[in-house]
Amino acid sequence: MTDCIFCKIANNEIPSKKIWESNNLFCILDIEPVSKGHCLIITKKHFETLTDVPDEILSQILVEVKKTMNLLKEKLNVNNFNILQNNGKLAGQEVNHFHTHIIPIFKDDNAHIICGKSTSKESQNIEEIYEKIIKN
Ligand code: 5GP
Ligand code: ZN
Repeated sequence: MTDCIFCKIANNEIPSKKIWESNNLFCILDIEPVSKGHCLIITKKHFETLTDVPDEILSQILVEVKKTMNLLKEKLNVNNFNILQNNGKLAGQEVNHFHTHIIPIFKDDNAHIICGKSTSKESQNIEEIYEKIIKN
């Protein structure tokens, strides 16, 4: 994708602080970190959201998340993390190129992610929603 910022980073057209790369993925420091060591695992190819990514690549991501968490644990002396992945604009996705956030959480830095509760009444109707999801 020509005007995608992460495609440009993948192609080395714009600089980044790269931590590692593999055949299908690379990991960089986020340019606006919410905490110390906040990084992104990004697919080299352009996919928009999780459901667009081939299974083979998807299954590599969680393994790389684990490796990267272990690296940050060792280098930054941190033991708490949020792993975040936004899908779609309403869910907070700003860059439409699939990526996974690794956010180290340090004591007293107030960076941890808390989901706001929906204000729609419908969201609380668990019985109805459950039926809708499991019905053929
Ligand atoms: P999203 O909201 O799409 O899940 O997250 C996009 C993330 O990409 C944000 O945390 C933002 O700071 C980061 N980001 C946006 N542009 C750049 C860039 O040019 N370089 C780097 N390293 N990170 C970026
Ligand atoms: Zn892209």
